[in-house]
Amino acid sequence: MLLREDPEIAAVVLDELDRERTGLQLIASENFTSPAVLAALGSTLTNKYAEGYPGRRYYGGCEVVDRAEALAVERAKRLFGAEHANVQPHSGASANLAAYAALLRPGDTMLAMALPHGGHLTHGSKVNFSGRWFDVAAYGVRRDTELIDYDEVRDLALRHRPKMIICGATAYPRLIDFATFRGIADEVGAWLLADVAHTIGLMAGGAIPSAVPYADVVTFTTHKALRGPRGGALLCTAELAAKIDRAVFPFTQGGPLMHVIAAKAVAFGEALRPEFAEYGKRVVDNARALADGLATAGMRPVSGGTDTHLALIDLRPLGVTGREAERRCADAGITLNRNAIPYDPEPPTVTSGLRVGTPCVTTQGLGPGDLAEVATMVAAAVRDPGGAPEVRRRVAELVGVHQVYPSES
Ligand code: PLP
Repeated sequence: MLLREDPEIAAVVLDELDRERTGLQLIASENFTSPAVLAALGSTLTNKYAEGYPGRRYYGGCEVVDRAEALAVERAKRLFGAEHANVQPHSGASANLAAYAALLRPGDTMLAMALPHGGHLTHGSKVNFSGRWFDVAAYGVRRDTELIDYDEVRDLALRHRPKMIICGATAYPRLIDFATFRGIADEVGAWLLADVAHTIGLMAGGAIPSAVPYADVVTFTTHKALRGPRGGALLCTAELAAKIDRAVFPFTQGGPLMHVIAAKAVAFGEALRPEFAEYGKRVVDNARALADGLATAGMRPVSGGTDTHLALIDLRPLGVTGREAERRCADAGITLNRNAIPYDPEPPTVTSGLRVGTPCVTTQGLGPGDLAEVATMVAAAVRDPGGAPEVRRRVAELVGVHQVYPSES
């Protein structure tokens, strides 16, 4: 149908499918959703306006889409053991905006992880609304261990008396001690927001400890390790439910994307199955195998390794910048991103590091032995641009055996 109606866009869709199938996808924040999630996304639920919440809409005809949102909310609560869930945020950034809108006023102080140490743009970067509208104090990782410096977090909290402390990161390979963050937040009377966009999929099945018992509000994206459609969501206590709901709609958003909410419900349903818990554990095993393999090949995993789905790799031992390594890997059919490492001497557009993650390759069925092999491919691509055709051949062979979206699905 699309091919007949709009061949130009059909070609884009097919070319992207081909790119996803024929390359090695190591971007830590991406995944391959199931065909069931894609089916919900491509449904007529996209046609429906449904401002408001199930049973309390500002449009007629919402009785069908109400069922999708009620299922998404109920499944999210069950999956994460949360008292309340809001599944309407269009993205992770929108979820954070809503959390701030619910609990802060412009000019309030927040304490969050610095962007160059692994924090997210929406955690107070000057180029983002969060940095423009709030006073931001930032904590980082220690130079020696490259782990979050909890003493520094406490000192900064006592000095700045933030109204909110944010934990959660976009490029931090280790577990976050949510209990310690809770203690510090309580000591200074701050809200604790856990933005676990990257790791919620691992928390779902218990591969890593959950932030839900500790944080007042948990924000996340549904499209990373969790393997759902592109979007955001919030979890909170029953006490904060009304505040959070009002902050999403009508304060920061209008009509919810009902096709995406239905797809979120599908993904939460998939994540409730025992196989997903196994998936989470395998993502972590695979990330460890990849980090170990890269270390053996002469690169340095920041903090010495990983407890999660991602590794941050210091390339300085090889004398190659992040930007150059990203380009060389792309030439060899490996998609990953350059990333600043803590205390990076290079500017953010260049960087000394790479970020690699295993949600995609694990969905595809690769195991730790394959990831050790993948590490040798990445190393070969980074070390020698001339060897790109040979690496590309090895990549094609590996992903050919573990094909994503086989034609019959
Ligand atoms: N929070 C964290 C920790 C993230 O890593 C990301 C995205 O990478 C976001 C928020 C924002 O998500 P989105 O890109 O959906 O706005």
